Amino acid sequence: MLAEVIAIGDELTSGQRLDTNSQWLSRELGVLGIPVGYHTTVCDTLEAGREAFAAAARRTQVVVATGGLGPTADDLTRDVLAAMAGVPLVCCERSLAEVEARFSRRGMPMPESNHRQACFPEGSRPIANPTGTAPGIDLVFPAGADWGRGLGSRVVALPGVPAEMRRMWQKTVGPQLARLAGGTRVLAHRRLKCFGAGESAIEAMLPGLIERGRDPTVGITAHEATITLRISAWAADASGCQGKITATEQLIRDALGDLVYGEEDDEVEDAVLAAVTLAGETVATIEAGTAGRVAALLAQAAARCPAGKSSSYRGGRVVGELPVAPEALFAAAAATAAEQEASVGLAVGPLRPSGERQAVDIAITYAGHREIHEHHLGGGDIALARAAKTAVNMVRRTVATARPSG
Ligand code: AMP
Ligand code: MG
Repeated sequence: MLAEVIAIGDELTSGQRLDTNSQWLSRELGVLGIPVGYHTTVCDTLEAGREAFAAAARRTQVVVATGGLGPTADDLTRDVLAAMAGVPLVCCERSLAEVEARFSRRGMPMPESNHRQACFPEGSRPIANPTGTAPGIDLVFPAGADWGRGLGSRVVALPGVPAEMRRMWQKTVGPQLARLAGGTRVLAHRRLKCFGAGESAIEAMLPGLIERGRDPTVGITAHEATITLRISAWAADASGCQGKITATEQLIRDALGDLVYGEEDDEVEDAVLAAVTLAGETVATIEAGTAGRVAALLAQAAARCPAGKSSSYRGGRVVGELPVAPEALFAAAAATAAEQEASVGLAVGPLRPSGERQAVDIAITYAGHREIHEHHLGGGDIALARAAKTAVNMVRRTVATARPSG
């Protein structure tokens, strides 16, 4: 069984609003064991709606659409569905009474246009909307309809308002589709977060893992130099999924070592402070080239630390200039650590030319341990953010591997 999610609205196709409904619904369908094969986004015209539903019904058995159920003239989903099913729109007295009651509870007369929201393609079922005026529509496209090689698809149309749509899914649609899917398989995911190597380098370290057809599948994406590995497994139940995911996770952790810094929504800087705290250490920073980005990362991570736990980040200075010579940069790191009574000192030198681009030196001192790294800046707006992440990540790797002497 395969599903398609259709998002309807001019505000989506014109780029004024991001389609978040399709993401949410696709995750929910996956949990029910119904894989989503297609996402389609269309504008508010009869033509586009017909094309989208026809294509979806030809290639999938479950179609979930959001948007276009409002009372105004541009809300055409009900008209599209009626035309495709070859049936008229008929008024549902019960739904009309519910829409009217909603208005009278607010002490307002129901505008004539809202009548439309109680009209449904003949033979379809309304889906109650406990928090808004637009009920949803549940119908089955007959197999072999004249607009294509219809396979006989279950079609569910929900309002576009995300909160209403979710509520209706949880209350009505989700449980119904769960029965349709028979609950024979469920899908689960885990994300591992990595920092310190590029996407292709990481892929090369995981031979055979990022391949289509593997079970579980492993996907890789990069965002601001953070690499996310997403493990997805199908199984009969949630614990079956977890078993498969854990085995693959172990393979990845063995291959990547401390390139893996966290899971799910963890950020590098959160993992850095956690590692510093775990080691019983504290950190202070001084930076020139990154212009405060290192301090901002660590201060934000400190603010996210569970309340009551004193942070292992002692503070950071942002300066206009720092010397380029390695010895002087080590001295700056050590001086900052001493000044802030921290055990780890981190110094980011000034930007300096390096070939076509720029580079920055990152020095760290930790008890008897000293390390310096030359970071080459890439192009683009995120070059400095990357340099800052690289600098804080050095702290994580240092406290985890270099034990203080004596
Ligand atoms: P509609 O049901 O088309 O009248 O949409 C009602 C509201 O929901 C509007 O404010 C839309 O911008 C919003 N909306 C519609 N579709 C989506 C979507 N796919 N993702 C997020 N918001 C949406
Ligand atoms: Mg709309």
